[in-house]
Amino acid sequence: MSDNLREQFDAYISDLFAREDDALRWIQAETVRNALPAISVRAVEGHLLGWLTRLVGARIAVEIGVLGGYSGTWIARSLPEDGRLYAVEKVEKHAAVARAAFDYAGIGDRVELLQGDAMDVLKGLGEKGPFDLVFIDADKESYPVYLDWAADNVRSGGLVVAHNAYQQGAVLEPQSESNRAMDSFNRAMASDPRLDGMILPLYDGMAVARRR
Ligand code: SAH
Ligand code: MG
Repeated sequence: MSDNLREQFDAYISDLFAREDDALRWIQAETVRNALPAISVRAVEGHLLGWLTRLVGARIAVEIGVLGGYSGTWIARSLPEDGRLYAVEKVEKHAAVARAAFDYAGIGDRVELLQGDAMDVLKGLGEKGPFDLVFIDADKESYPVYLDWAADNVRSGGLVVAHNAYQQGAVLEPQSESNRAMDSFNRAMASDPRLDGMILPLYDGMAVARRR
């Protein structure tokens, strides 16, 4: 498919399925106003995350790498009112912006922000599980470790989802440590006997695996 045609289809599905409301637009504007990096998922990917959350009837979820709370809002909105999103974010400023985002979106009481390095936070988080869905979108070097943790802590039939599986194409010929880690991550998702995985070729690749 030509790039131009792909862009037209992106706009088409975005328009049909992934309309942002005021809160989601506000969160994106806050991300810009606070000079956070412009690396949130796109609206279509946000819709996909919410849809997957509803598909498995998730009640307890984890997000690793929250930034300004954009993807977390799509997920948390799709949880029931008594559901919980454990949102793990290393950078204090990002966590503060995300806190305001979740409150603005009216889902603040459903989200527990855990500020710290996921490598440390996850060690203690397991006891709150098993989880219905884990979304991985933090430092790429640690993706293989996060995958192993998720496979251990997601219930049977639950999902592990990960952003940036393609690394803008770099997984085909890994150059950096993060490229190699992402390639290892994808290979582990494909071969780990605990997981039943696939990469959805949307934008930068969304890896999704069902826990067997
Ligand atoms: N999921 C967000 C975007 C996340 S960007 C969205 O789509 O809206 C990646 C985030 O991961 C950044 O906020 C970064 O600070 C955070 N991060 C990077 N390394 C981390 C680590 N070791 N533990 C927790 N968070 C980390
Ligand atoms: Mg990402």
